[in-house]
Amino acid sequence: MIGQLNPEQLAAVTTTSKHTLVLAGAGSGKTKVLTTRMAWLIQNGKVSPYGVLAVTFTNKAAREMLTRLTAMLPVDTRGMWVGTFHGLCNRLLRAHYRDAGLPQNFQILDIADQLAAIKRLIKANDIDDEKFPPRDVQRFINNAKENGERPEHVEVWDAHRKHLAEIYQLYQEQCEREGVVDFAELLLRAYELLSRNALVREHYQRRFRYILVDEFQDTNTLQYKWLCLLAGGDASLFAVGDDDQSIYAFRGANVGNMSAFERDYAGDNIIRLEQNYRSFGHILDAANALIEHNTERLGKNLWTDRGEGELLRVVEQPTDLLEAQWVVDEIRAQINEGRMRSEIAVLYRSNAQSRPIEHALFSAHIPYKVYGGLRFFERQEIKHVLAYLRLVASGDDDTSFMRVVNFPARGIGARTLENLSDSARQIGCNLIHAVGAVSGRSASKLLAFVKLIETLREAAQTLTLPELIKHVNDLSGLTTHYEAEREGAERLENLGELINAATAFCAEENLEGKPALALVERSVAPDDPDSPFAQEQTTPLALFLSHASLEAGDNQAQAGEDAVQLMTIHAAKGLEFDSVFITGVEEGLFPHENSMMAEDGLEEERRLMYVAITRAKERLTISLAHARMLHGQTRYSMRSRFLDELPEDHLKWLTPRAREQAEPSWGMRLHVDAHARPATGRIEPRAPRSLSSGVSVSGKQYKIGQGVRHARFGDGTIIRLSGQGADAQAEIVFRDAGAKTLALAVAKLDIIA
Ligand code: ATP
Ligand code: MG
Repeated sequence: MIGQLNPEQLAAVTTTSKHTLVLAGAGSGKTKVLTTRMAWLIQNGKVSPYGVLAVTFTNKAAREMLTRLTAMLPVDTRGMWVGTFHGLCNRLLRAHYRDAGLPQNFQILDIADQLAAIKRLIKANDIDDEKFPPRDVQRFINNAKENGERPEHVEVWDAHRKHLAEIYQLYQEQCEREGVVDFAELLLRAYELLSRNALVREHYQRRFRYILVDEFQDTNTLQYKWLCLLAGGDASLFAVGDDDQSIYAFRGANVGNMSAFERDYAGDNIIRLEQNYRSFGHILDAANALIEHNTERLGKNLWTDRGEGELLRVVEQPTDLLEAQWVVDEIRAQINEGRMRSEIAVLYRSNAQSRPIEHALFSAHIPYKVYGGLRFFERQEIKHVLAYLRLVASGDDDTSFMRVVNFPARGIGARTLENLSDSARQIGCNLIHAVGAVSGRSASKLLAFVKLIETLREAAQTLTLPELIKHVNDLSGLTTHYEAEREGAERLENLGELINAATAFCAEENLEGKPALALVERSVAPDDPDSPFAQEQTTPLALFLSHASLEAGDNQAQAGEDAVQLMTIHAAKGLEFDSVFITGVEEGLFPHENSMMAEDGLEEERRLMYVAITRAKERLTISLAHARMLHGQTRYSMRSRFLDELPEDHLKWLTPRAREQAEPSWGMRLHVDAHARPATGRIEPRAPRSLSSGVSVSGKQYKIGQGVRHARFGDGTIIRLSGQGADAQAEIVFRDAGAKTLALAVAKLDIIA
């Protein structure tokens, strides 16, 4: 098990220090060390599997961890707490729902459900959705929760924020009424439960002797506090991370947790791993050179003894369609050379970019799998079935009620539903219970719907979960509805897939043959007979519903099929492939234009590029297109600055480098057809460029990414610098005035950050 580890890895695996921080770059074996340590601790009798808690970032990574563990050591992983923060918090809340103030069958709202719930709330309370756009409200609420703030804790410094806090309060009341929790709430509730309830807290503090955290750089403040609380004074904390791979700041991740952990726990016990076992030399050196452009770094050095390997290959294409076609031709060639399809990954900055590549792969008959994107459980038809199932589990879920009360169409109109909402509000009950109070023509249709749910609930007492789902599909009219729809075949197929997913779930959870609403016991503490919370009562249906809400969509693998892997770079974190394509490496797309506005946005984008490059073991191909259709518009872009930051001696240009176009500049969107653009075909050999990352003019230092203030244009960020002295120019994106190119010797700029 520990035979092949290098001395630093071995030291980390077997450390007897109470707390440890492993701070190391990509591919240095952090995840391997963490998993091996779990096995080592158990094998050497330091702890039973039941005393270990391990947190990681995705469900895929958690499953991977258990697989690796059982490969090293035949342990029963059932009682082990290995999962994502959300998954573990859900488990805690299910076990202690009463103490947490939740109904036993509370439902989980995913991001889309949450937005729907907020829209409903805004409408019901006559809130101006221009002043308070639902997405802004959602962001506000989630941020507050991630900071551990309830409505009464939110700092209000103006009328607008005061209003937002009030909406947050209303939202919270709505969630309570409907028995639902959103993702951020899972964490906050679990944190509050532990902090307020000494009995529960002490129980888990006694139980978990060893707490291990992977991808620690991406934990947020609340997650860190949750870990500290759980650890109490006695547990040993083991965290591994890489500050250069912190890519979730936009969702509240706080890389500062690494220094906090050093200060609060690890002290001097920091282990650095410097040997990279994943990538060949050119790939690794290019990644190292890129990340050196960041200033906010803890600093690390990575080396490999795998040899230099191939140069990074770079391709520029006139359009995104040609880029996709090129990538797919290249993939085909690699497959013909004998590479496994699953060892080839195509990465992109945002989901919207996958379409042309999917299309080209599909036309070439190459099997592929998209991770993320529209996840299985987020597909419209699946959400409909799940909504019925949730109503069967608990009628209180108003979001589910609204979703399917008139789907498939039952002649229940918007007016009727408004009446229903009004009645529910007046009575102070959930929609389903207010049905009796509605009069008029549609009342009988509403009653018929309630009857349908009751019939299904009755059936759920005897049918197994897969049988129940089939029954829901048929009785609700969903099957007939999609049969009649022109494009319904795929949706019907997905409905079938859901039944398969339920069958697999029951097999995994030992629930075969059990009725969907049968009470089953789940042990929270299987090998702790003294535990006051040894058992929780739940139902197969409830277990399946939380599985569906939490499943981050990364398991839609058709088991065993060898397929090319498509995903965003965010989703690729922690993974590795023999051959990687990074596509769409263009200014405005990557770095993403939105990142220019946010403080530190550019550095986060660069870390993302670092993550992308370091996924590759043997071959790395970087591609870009000069014209791209995105969100219905054609946009022209220059190649990304990140390409210019990679040292030439690691690169091999497969197409001649295009001449830099002065116009149109980055960020402009032109409403013309990409294929009609005369210049796109003209590709010139490498043109010298006089771009720089920093210039000094009249004693002032200007840098890319710097915030500046202009008397007329306001605040902005420098995205490009060229020339020197009197010729120095800066391209600046102003928050309100848009992109401008200014002569630095003339423009009066103040540096603000
Ligand atoms: P990331 O930062 O991308 O998450 P990581 O630091 O977690 O990377 P791992 O995924 O654990 O790195 O390891 C990278 C690869 O190197 C894996 O294939 C792993 O099996 C291999 N590896 C790690 N340590 C060794 C070793 N001592 N000998 C051989 N292979 C190793
Ligand atoms: Mg890892």
